[in-house]
Amino acid sequence: MTIPSTQKVVLFRENGGLDVLRYEEDFPVPTISASQVLIKNQYAGVNFIEAYFRSGLYPSEKPYVLGREAVGVIAAVGKDVTNLKQGDRVAYLGGSSFAQYTAAEASGKIFKLDADIDEETAQVYAGLLINGLTTLTFINESYKVQKGDYILVHAAAGGCGLLFAQQILAKGAHVIATASSPEKLQLAKEAGAEFLINSSTEDIVARVKEITHNKGVEAVYDGIGKDTFEISLEVVARKGTLVSFGNASGAVPPFLISRLLAKNVKVLRPSLFNYLADQEEWDFYSQELLRLVKEGILKQKITKVYPLAEYRQAAEDLEGRKTTGKLVLEIPQ
Ligand code: NDP
Repeated sequence: MTIPSTQKVVLFRENGGLDVLRYEEDFPVPTISASQVLIKNQYAGVNFIEAYFRSGLYPSEKPYVLGREAVGVIAAVGKDVTNLKQGDRVAYLGGSSFAQYTAAEASGKIFKLDADIDEETAQVYAGLLINGLTTLTFINESYKVQKGDYILVHAAAGGCGLLFAQQILAKGAHVIATASSPEKLQLAKEAGAEFLINSSTEDIVARVKEITHNKGVEAVYDGIGKDTFEISLEVVARKGTLVSFGNASGAVPPFLISRLLAKNVKVLRPSLFNYLADQEEWDFYSQELLRLVKEGILKQKITKVYPLAEYRQAAEDLEGRKTTGKLVLEIPQ
């Protein structure tokens, strides 16, 4: 495989809105160390976190090549690498995946795929790891969902939302879904949501109280952030758990910890990567995720594939609440 010296990438050089995004065609291809592999990317998953780096909510180096996950083929291996070889097809979690080539640790968050998977399957794996592992770890570690629980999932037709609904249902719990349109709620229903709340037209607090006979929910999964935090705190049951895990509407402002004593509530602000901090955690959860997919318990819905050059449109759609399920980028070969 001949490796060029420059490549096509999506990056930003300063923080800001969609206008700071650049599609560049002559960005250097990374060099690899002895322990790394160079991956020629085929498809990369689009995630909300890209908006946080771009806006400056999360700090980053500049220029910053976006992307956190992809599927590709090993183009070169460092001299100490023994577990992967040139030509292996892999899925991985790692930075700078909105690029034709990405350097990654061979012993990192990466696993081999069958060489002969079709394009559709490659797209699914490219968009599976972040949302799949987030939802899997959060329903087992942030709050361990129990049979019979009532669980509120905000933005339930989104990338994370649809995967939350399927897995919570599989644990025998009841999913209460919010989403901003009837079409989105229908998708949440198909994924396993039992109760549907239209967040554009209905009072979420009143509806959750009605559904749970005033008890509230055992846990809330809230990736919307600023706009829903107070609602989530209000609908969580006594001794319940509020898992606030994202900022789609903006960051949650500081709040007084003493507010939690009213119901002995637990509030978590987890990050996926702190549940995958060592090799044992990665092996355990990535294998479990693969099992759920292979057994058909978890179905990832890739709703749109954009060419890499059109990432800006994908970001505009995602941040503009126009999307459902998962978006992926096709990387030019
Ligand atoms: P989604 O596909 O869920 O898209 C975001 C959804 O949030 C929208 O479709 C929309 O659904 C809802 N939303 C409500 N208000 C707004 C707003 N003002 N602007 C934009 N969206 C809004 O995205 P993802 O599944 O990729 O991510 C969901 C959340 O999970 C994000 O906050 C993300 O950062 C977080 N996340 C956190 C991780 C972690 O480790 N902590 C890991 C992975 C994801 P609707 O129209 O139905 O309200």
